[in-house]
Parts: sequence; C-alpha cells; structure tokens
Amino acid sequence: MTTLDTPLDALLDSSHGKPKLLVVDDQPINIQVMHQVFGADYQVFMATHGEQALSICQANPPDLVLLDVVMPGMDGFEVCSQLKANPATRNIPVIFVTAHSDAAQETHGLSVGAVDFISKPVNPAVVRARVKTHLTLKFQSDLLRNLVFLDGLSGVFNRRYFDQQMGVEWARAARNNTPLSLIMVDVDHFKLFNDRYGHQAGDDCLRQIAQTLKSGLRRPSDLVARYGGEEFACILPETGFEDALAITQDMERKVRAQKIPHEFSQFDGVVTASLGLATRTVQPGGDPVALVGLADAQLYQAKQAGRGRVCGARLDTSTPE
Ligand code: GH3
Ligand code: MG
Ligand code: MG
Repeated sequence: MTTLDTPLDALLDSSHGKPKLLVVDDQPINIQVMHQVFGADYQVFMATHGEQALSICQANPPDLVLLDVVMPGMDGFEVCSQLKANPATRNIPVIFVTAHSDAAQETHGLSVGAVDFISKPVNPAVVRARVKTHLTLKFQSDLLRNLVFLDGLSGVFNRRYFDQQMGVEWARAARNNTPLSLIMVDVDHFKLFNDRYGHQAGDDCLRQIAQTLKSGLRRPSDLVARYGGEEFACILPETGFEDALAITQDMERKVRAQKIPHEFSQFDGVVTASLGLATRTVQPGGDPVALVGLADAQLYQAKQAGRGRVCGARLDTSTPE
C-alpha cells in the first residue's frame, strides 16, 4: 500500500516505472548534457522550441519539465504560462534552467508557475537532487488528488469530483453555448443481488459495471463517477441529445452483455441497469441542479417502464424558471 511518506523509489516502483522528463532547450548541446545526467534513470524526451514542448505535453504528459527561458519564438515563460492555464497539463512541475539568472527573472519564473530555478552550466549532482525532490512532491500530490477524487471501491471518480465537474462543465457549456449531456445509471434489483450472492459479489459487480460504463465513453473529456450506492453518473460535455442517446443505449447494452448472473433479474437472469439521460440544449439559462433533476426523473421513468432500458429528455432552458 502506498502511503504519503513513501520514498520516491517506492512510489515509482509501485505505479510509474521510469519517470518521464521533458527537456526543452533550443541548443542541442544543452539537451545532450541533460541526457547524460538523466538518461540512465529517466525516460528523457526533448523539444527544441516552445510549440513542440506544448504539443508533447498534450500528447504524452511528462512527469516534469526542464525548461530553458531564452528561446527564439515562444520563450520559456510563455510555455510555462500556457502549461499552467491548461487543466490537462497544469499539474506538471516546471523547473527553469537558465544561463542569465537574476532575482527579477527568477521571481517572474516562479510567478508564472515554475517550482524551481536552476542556473547553467548545471551541476549534475544538484540538478539530479532537485529533480528528485520535485518528482517526489509531484507523485505525492497525484496520490492525494486520487484519494480525494476517486471512489475507493470502483476506481472511477467519486461524488465530490462529479459535483465539482458538473459546475465546471455547466459554466463552460453556458459560456460557449454548447450542449451538455448527463446520464444517471442505477443497477436494477441490486438489493436482491446482494441478498442472493452476498455483499462481496455485490462489490465485484459494481466494480465491473463502473469499468463497463467507462468503456462506453468516447472522448477524453467524458467522465463516469459513482454517484452513490449502486448509482453512477456520466458527464458528456459538448454532446447533443442524439449522440448522447446513442451512447446511453450502448451503455445499457454493454451492462447487459457482461452477463453477470442474477437469479432474480427479469431479463434472462443477468444484471441490468436503468439509465436516465438529460441534455442541456443551447438556450441560455437553467442550472446544473436542474439537469441532475431531469436525468433523475428520466431514470425514474425507465424504472417505472420496466427497468433494463433508457429514457431521455432535453432540458428546455428557454422556458422561464
Ligand atoms: P431498483 O431496481 O428499483 O433500483 O432496486 P434496487 O434493489 O437496486 O434498489 P434499492 O435502492 O432498494 O437497493 C439498492 C441496494 O444497493 C441496497 C444496497 O445494499 C446496495 N448497495 C449500495 N451500495 C453498495 C455497495 O457499495 N456495495 C454493495 N454490495 N451493495 C451496495
Ligand atoms: Mg438506487
Ligand atoms: Mg437499483
């Protein structure tokens, strides 16, 4: 079990393998030096200009960036600012490595989000020690974030994260006038499942359903969370009603196709779920609570109509509240 006072080596062994470093410098000789310092213990990636660094961070996020300040085109400060402005890259620690450090430059670097500042020419022992310190902190904060935002039983996001993201995605949808879909999922006759097969088997079933729902998501921005008990919720940003309905129906089929035996199921003796979909259309107004309420009402409809099915509706935000 990983704990917060686990040393770096153990943190790495348990979940990461070799940490990934991105070295950004317009002078290939400087990259070579860093490669000699880190090549044995790290996977070292390289970029020779700012745009390239940003695209590598998007496509294959490193665990830490060593960033030159002075580069032609986009300078290191700008690269760092852009990394920190993007939620996908915000948590990657950045260390500036520069030949001309003065107090003003160093302060500016820290103010745009860097964790440290190192002078060139680098001392291998010092740069190695600092990188190790910052990686340890990074892995510890990743671990904490996981503890705070992941559901311990199912491994998908928890209710706390769901509530936070609903607020974020609702605001984004309202700002950009894009649709937003929400699916509420409830396992059918799950009390009977527990009664018949035991709580442990019930837990296994929930874990399996969580992974199945996750496999039904189509974009990196989609998410599934455990809403509570045997209920899950899926947020699909920028997804209109028709597309979301197809995804919801696909999830219903996938749950059924797992063929988890359930003696008291009304559907061929396998576990099923009922799903309620609500889509925020592009009219202004409304709020995330209304969307959750509507998805819940649709889920209730699906239960009433006989379970093992999907009901959906559009949230008409153009009507006065
Ligand atoms: P319906 O088809 O109407 O949804 O019936 P249901 O039995 O699924 O609904 P009900 O709300 O009556 O029961 C939900 C059950 O889910 C009861 C509870 O013991 C079980 N449950 C909730 N959380 C967990 C969990 O973490 N693990 C296990 N094994 N069971 C859980
Ligand atoms: Mg329930
Ligand atoms: Mg249920």
